[in-house]
Amino acid sequence: MRCPFCRESDSRVVDSRTSEDGAAIRRRRQCRHCGRRFTTMEATSLSVIKRSGVTEEFSRQKIMSGVRKACQGRPVSDDDLAKLAQRVEENIRSRGIAEIDADEVGLSILDPLRELDQVAYLRFASVYQGFDSLEDFEAAIDSLRADALLQSGQTREPTPDDFAD
Ligand SMILES: [Zn+2]
Repeated sequence: MRCPFCRESDSRVVDSRTSEDGAAIRRRRQCRHCGRRFTTMEATSLSVIKRSGVTEEFSRQKIMSGVRKACQGRPVSDDDLAKLAQRVEENIRSRGIAEIDADEVGLSILDPLRELDQVAYLRFASVYQGFDSLEDFEAAIDSLRADALLQSGQTREPTPDDFAD
């Protein structure tokens, strides 16, 4: 790591801390030659292997743009998308792997997207889980309904009797 002031490569680490999102380590260094201090960021590399076999660096921006398409017309803000992309990255990095298949990245988007917006989730899942029939959509919708019932504490579908007095 060269000193940005004098270009010497001999420096010592004076402080080291993990960035807020846990994806990088921020180091404060002091040059042994000129004594000036500078900061470096070190991120572990995380590669995504595409179906074509090409690998590219993991990118939150790519997660966001992929999910944004599924969210068209839905009440989902850029801030929501940024948080979702951060969750996906933290989840993948917590597995301690250096490479991941693009399909796996897609699958790891499903759970947080399901919490964020159910319509966007269905659109996205239909692509990544390869829905090819109405039954696939029905199964996914049934599963969303089951979640909603669990959350509301109900164990059955409401009937008209529930609303009569
Ligand atoms: Zn220096």
